[in-house]
Amino acid sequence: MPGVWGVVVAGGSGERYGAPKQFALLGGRPVVEWSVAACRPTCARVVLVLPAADPSLSAEHPPYGADVVVPGGATRAASVRAGLAAVPGDVDVVVVHDAARPLAPPALFESVVAAIEGGAAGAVCALPVSDTLKRTDHPLGDGTLPTVLATVDRSELVAVQTPQAFAAGVLRRAHASSPDATDDAALVEALGEIVRVVPGDPANLKVTAPVDLAFAEHRLAR
Ligand code: C5P
Repeated sequence: MPGVWGVVVAGGSGERYGAPKQFALLGGRPVVEWSVAACRPTCARVVLVLPAADPSLSAEHPPYGADVVVPGGATRAASVRAGLAAVPGDVDVVVVHDAARPLAPPALFESVVAAIEGGAAGAVCALPVSDTLKRTDHPLGDGTLPTVLATVDRSELVAVQTPQAFAAGVLRRAHASSPDATDDAALVEALGEIVRVVPGDPANLKVTAPVDLAFAEHRLAR
């Protein structure tokens, strides 16, 4: 679609993974290349945000199938801002996608963009939560065992994925004061704008730990 651009954020250092997971090989191709390819059917152009020290930023041709590459920032939100700055002012819709989700089906991109064309300011894809959720007094894994404070009603909760689509002007406004958040929808919500939820896909897994890459290989083989 001519008025739709993609921003794929691949500027992370992969702290939890132990290495930049976006460059690990999946089916013989770097994870990030799959993520850029996933945007292609829906996005007229794709901006790829790479770690600031990545040598391919100075390559003659943009790598990994992208149209434009730019250096990222210290946080995911800063990397999105770097990508957004490379999107021309006359673009209507921006789709933000994490490089860490290489198996996002094209239908998800179509669904979130359709929600924007239907009048929403933002759209995310998400899945219902199947585990029982509990609030604890501190995070797991910091040495001492947390205590449960409450069991949370999961019926109103969803687990949010990318791609996420936005009316370009709203996304620029949401990022104007350089805020931080774990996704862009949170910044658009903070403006009081409508963010719609469309059904996500369990196949759209996020590569966070090495075991996720093994799952992704398995999915690909199927
Ligand atoms: O760290 P997390 O898994 O939430 O990162 C989500 C996506 O944001 C990843 O694709 C990662 O490469 C990207 N990111 C980024 N710049 C950062 C941190 C994360 O582009 N500074």
